[in-house]
Order: sequence, then C-alpha cells, then structure tokens
Amino acid sequence: MSAEPDGPEGRLRRFATIWSRAIFPVTATSLTRPEFEQQLVPLARRLRDALQERVFDAKEGQAVGAALIDTHCTDPEALSRTLDCVDAYLVLYCGGDGPREELRARSARIQHAVAAGFAQALRERTLAEQEAISRAALSARSAVAEALHASEARFRAVFHGAAIGIGIADLDGTILEVNDALIRMFGGLESNVRGRNAAEWTHPDDSPHVWKLYEELVRGEREHYRVEKAFYRPDGTVLWTNLTVSLLRDADGLPQYQLALMEDTTERRLLNLRLRYEATHDALTGLPNRTLFFERLEKALAAGDGARFGLCYLDLDGFKTVNDSLGHAAGDRLLVEVADRLQSCATAPGEMVARLGGDEFVALTTGTDTETEVDELAGRIMNALAAPIRVEGRELTVRGSIGIVEGPAGERGAADVLRSADITMYRAKSAGGNRYELADPEADARAITRHGLTTALPAALERGEFFIEYQPLVHLGDGSVRGAEALVRWLHPQHGVIGPDRFIPLAEHTGLIVPLGRWVLEESVRQARLWETRTLDGAAAGPLRVNVNLSPMQLTHPGLVSDTVDILEREGLEPGGLCLEVTESALIGADDDLLKPLRRLAEMGVDIALDDFGTGYSNLANLRRLPVSVLKLDRSFTQGMQHFPADPVDLKIVEGIVSLAHSLDLAVTVEGVETGAQADQLRELGCDTAQGWYYARPGPPDQLHELALADAIS
Ligand code: C2E
Ligand code: MG
Ligand code: MG
Repeated sequence: MSAEPDGPEGRLRRFATIWSRAIFPVTATSLTRPEFEQQLVPLARRLRDALQERVFDAKEGQAVGAALIDTHCTDPEALSRTLDCVDAYLVLYCGGDGPREELRARSARIQHAVAAGFAQALRERTLAEQEAISRAALSARSAVAEALHASEARFRAVFHGAAIGIGIADLDGTILEVNDALIRMFGGLESNVRGRNAAEWTHPDDSPHVWKLYEELVRGEREHYRVEKAFYRPDGTVLWTNLTVSLLRDADGLPQYQLALMEDTTERRLLNLRLRYEATHDALTGLPNRTLFFERLEKALAAGDGARFGLCYLDLDGFKTVNDSLGHAAGDRLLVEVADRLQSCATAPGEMVARLGGDEFVALTTGTDTETEVDELAGRIMNALAAPIRVEGRELTVRGSIGIVEGPAGERGAADVLRSADITMYRAKSAGGNRYELADPEADARAITRHGLTTALPAALERGEFFIEYQPLVHLGDGSVRGAEALVRWLHPQHGVIGPDRFIPLAEHTGLIVPLGRWVLEESVRQARLWETRTLDGAAAGPLRVNVNLSPMQLTHPGLVSDTVDILEREGLEPGGLCLEVTESALIGADDDLLKPLRRLAEMGVDIALDDFGTGYSNLANLRRLPVSVLKLDRSFTQGMQHFPADPVDLKIVEGIVSLAHSLDLAVTVEGVETGAQADQLRELGCDTAQGWYYARPGPPDQLHELALADAIS
C-alpha cells in the first residue's frame, strides 16, 4: 500500500521515520533501520489514535511505552528521544485540523502515559532478567564438574547480552568482571570500572544503610540487598541506579564473590523530577503551588516539640479591576511581579511563598520564634507591595489584605489552618483592605467561609432568601428624592444578613449572578412601578426611578436586552424609570460587541450609569464612546471631603470630573455622602445627585416612599 505523501497515512509514515531515526542509534536491535521503522509504524498509529480519540485513554500510550521495551529499546535515552519526538512532531504530523491547544495538552498526557508504560515494562523485564541470572548463577554454583561448563556458558551468554548492568567483585570489593551494559552506564570505558574498588563509589546521596548492608553482605551475614544508589561517572555526571547485590558462595558455602545488578534509572528519575516539578509549581509565576504548599504546611504542622508556624494569607485588593480594565495579559504580568516581590520577602530558611490560585498567595514561616517572625513577614510583604508596579506603561498601585495565623505545631490540620487564614484575610478586606489582621478563634467560629457560601447560593435563590433594600438618590439642588438604588442582601438562615460584597463575587464566579441579577431587576422594576402608582394616587413628587446594578457577567449574557424589555413590559414601567449601573472597570477597554446591548437599552430610554467612577484605570477620553448618561463618583472621593477643610487636590479632581461630565452631557451622582458638610461641598462643586447615610441608609421600600412624600409636603 503506497500512501499519499500528504494524506494522513503519508504524514503518519513521516512521523514514524523521524521517530525511528531518533531512537535507532540507541536501540539494541538486530534489525536494519528500515525494518525497525516498520515496527514503529503500528505504534505511531496508536499514538495518532490516542491523540485524536474523543476521550483520552492512557492505556494506549502505556502500551506504546511497553512495546518499546519489547522492541529492545530499553535504553532510557530511547525513552527520552521518543518523548522529545512526540512532543515536537506528533501534533504536527498526526493532529489533523483539531484545535492546537487541546492537541498540545493531549500530547503532554500521551507523553506521560508512554513514560509510565516504558518504566513499568522495563521494571518487569529487569526483574525477569535478574531472576534468570540468579538462577544461572545458582546452578553454576551447585553443578557437578562436567555440568559446570555448560551452565557457565549459559551464564556468560546472559551476562553479556543483558540490557542491565552486571558486575562481579570479590569480597574486598575489587571489581573483577563487568558486562557491556554496565560499561556503557559508566561512560563506555572498561577501565572506568574493571579493577576499581566498589568502596570508592560513595555518593553524597547515599543513605547510611547502603554501606551497612554492603558490610553485612561481604561478611556473609546477608544473601542480598536492594537499594537505590547514585554513582559519579568519571566525567562528573551522576548515574542513578536500582542496585541489587547478591552474595555468591563457593561449593562449601563460603562467601566468595558479590554479584551486582544495576538498572540505570537516571532518565526516569529526571523525568519524574520534571513531572513532579510541573505538578507542584505554578506555571505563571514559577512559585510553589497549592499542592506543594499543603505538603510543606502539613510537615510544619507535624513538626515536634517546641516547633511553631506562622502563615500569611494574602489576597490582592482590587485585582479584578486591573484584570477587567487592562486585560488578562496585564493582570498576569502584575501577578508575576507580585510573585517576585513576595519571594524576596521570604528568603530565610524555613520560609516559603506559594501561589494558591488567582490573586491569592501564602507565605509560611516555621521555627520556634514565629510569633515575631510572622509579624515581620507580613510587614515586609506590605512594604514590598507599596511601590507601584509598572505594567504596560502604567503605574499600578497594588494593595493587599493579609490574614495571619500563628501557633504551635501539632494542634491543627492544614486545611483548618488555611481556612482560618482565609477567614482572617476576609476580615482584613472587610475592614477596608491594605492591612493585616491576626486570626481570632472566636471570630473564626462565627465566620462564614467562601466555600460554604458558594455552595449555598443556588438553593438560596430558590428558597427566596434574597431581599432588596433601597437607598434614596437625592437631588442636591432642591433636596428632593428622585429615586433609589436597589441593593441586594441575603438573609442567610444561619448567618443572618450578608452584604453583596460577600456574595456577589461568588455568584459572579459561579454564574449564578445571571438568574440572581434577573430576579433583582424584576423585583426592582415591580417596586418602581408600585411607587409610581402610589405617587400618582398621592399626587406627590414626580415618579421615583430605580437604579439596578449589573455585573460584568450579566453584560455579556445574550439575554440581557430581551430580559430587560420583557420585564419592563410585563410590569408596565417606562424605560426612563430604570437606570442600570455598570462599574467603570467592566466597561473600560470594552469593544463594540460588548457595548452593543447597552447601546440598545440606552436607545430605548433606559439610563446607564457608570458606577464606582474613579476606581478603575480608565481613560477619560473614552467616556465619549460609552452609552452612559450618568457618572457615579466613587465613595473614595467623598471620603476625602469628610474633614474640613477638604483636601484641595480632591476638590480639584472632583471639579474637573464634574465639568468634563457636564460637557459630555452626563449627570454626576456622588456616593457615600455621610455629612452635611460633604453635601454642601459637593453641591458647590456642581454635582447633581447624591446618595449616602446623611440622607438615608439602604432600607425597605416604604422608607423611600415616606421620604419622597415628606419632601413633597414640606
Ligand atoms: P455600589 O453600587 O457602589 O453601592 C453603593 C454601596 O455603598 C452600597 O453598599 C451602600 O450600602 C454603600 N453606601 C451607601 N451610602 C454610604 C455611605 O454614606 N457611607 C458608606 N461607607 N457606604 C455607603 P452595599 O449595599 O454593600 O453594596 C456594595 C456593592 O455591591 C454595590 O456597590 C454594588 O456594586 C454591589 N451590588 C449590590 N447589589 C447588587 C445587585 O443587585 N447586583 C449586582 N450585580 N451588584 C450589586
Ligand atoms: Mg451601584
Ligand atoms: Mg458605587
């Protein structure tokens, strides 16, 4: 059968050719290279099938690894070259037109399977060979004189042809005979091994019992032993082996020789180290990952008398904003820089830094004096984050919240300690972030874990555990109530009322935000309609409008426009009665596809407000592109005006933003107005509407109606 050179079969053949060229030189086969290649073709086909199969099956790769041993590719170099070859060419020649990313991932899994199958088959074969050799040696020993010759010939044949290294030494350790495989392992020169003394081959990694077993064997107190041992080759490189040494006795049973069987495990060991490294390190930052961190923490917690540990659990504040507004590539770069800085904070022995995932990091310190050490460690971390980080030409200020757990080893498990650190970190974040807090067992017991909340969320929506509070929006000019922002809360059966900052990010993470957001919209629109009818009855102030927050994920949901239109029509509210609040960070850098649904809604008459304005890294010139009609100035600006006189820089900034907004025809709402002085100040600066505790805290819908009626009467 001749294959089309460019067809799938032709490409498969080419892969087999490359593969056979790579490994033929390190194969102990009597075949010619073309014959050898023929043997590889069916194996290549299995690899191709494993690559393209819909469901991955490790068995295929393992079978190929085992088949290599059967074709006499027992040299670890053959494995190494095979893996290189699969890595470089399998997807290229046998990938068809499947998605490259997935094929690459699949190819990596195939390589692992091939390596595993190879190692397993090699071990089985080695054991079988060892058994044959021991049997031959045994019969050579016990045979009568004339039989001796025959069995010795058999022994010689096995000795020289074996793929594993064999050496014979006398009881002083002088090496008398070695086979070719052993010579190859030591660099190819017979003089590297023959005539040397076994006792010279110490290695720093030898465990003490290696030499104890050796002494026992040569004294005749032990028949054999088996260890994992490293040797230096004459060129200084290290050879790792599985070493089995047996004692050979003469016809009278007196110890006479030692027989060593060596299996070269260097490559396999390196491969294992590499696989282990990949399994225990974070690919982005190179830091140890959660797995490795857990191992270390468990070890620290299991340490003996007097040992203590200190743990800092760090979560960056506002990382999501960076990711949303500057993109993931910038977010990644930021994380890498943060990782580098953290690493430089924990360089002492007993200290380590790891990345748990996302923007969460941990630093661990162990020893006897961790009470002060962990405090210093947290201080160093805060310091390290203080200097702005340059990403894509911008200076980003990175802050973090740290939860600290410190204590004696031997009392708590790793998961428990980490949970406590997580809760404490959350407390630091709730207290405003950019700080560290020490764990408090009482607070822990009351605390609510993110995991617990996340899993409870879906049922909570079904059971109707959410409710909405409304916070009035007040016109700064005449003090009248113009509307309210709907703010969702969760009445948790055990933990009481939980604020949106705790659960909205979780809902967003799991996708539950879409049905939850739809529910909030529906409720709020119904409420606005209710205010409207009651206002008409009472003939008080104009209609009250409702502001509803939208999460970034809702923005990209295809049903946004149709759901909103449905709800407005069903409840009978004019589009102008609704304002959707979108955070600044969700819109900055948004392309036209993302803006399209908002634009549609704006065209229908729904107001769009840019929430938390001033917290993202946005470009003011961009505002013009966005379909927004309201800017909501973030609370942080208002906070700067809490004290009299207000910070002049803050005043200038707000003044500038207000005049820019007005020139773009945007109304300005300020958030977080807590005092009359702030309200006066903001009115002078030209802001249009305000929201804050000075007017009212978020509350039940009736509060709003009463307020509105009251100012209509007064
Ligand atoms: P936001 O939209 O910026 O809402 C304003 C937040 O400031 C509210 O916090 C409000 O209670 C608080 N606040 C109001 N006046 C003052 C004041 O004078 N001083 C201080 N210190 N704070 C004040 P809340 O209710 O905890 O909501 C937090 C955030 O959760 C909201 O920020 C909003 O982004 C989000 N959120 C709330 N409800 C929803 C919702 O239904 N859907 C979505 N996607 N997000 C929501
Ligand atoms: Mg809002
Ligand atoms: Mg806001």
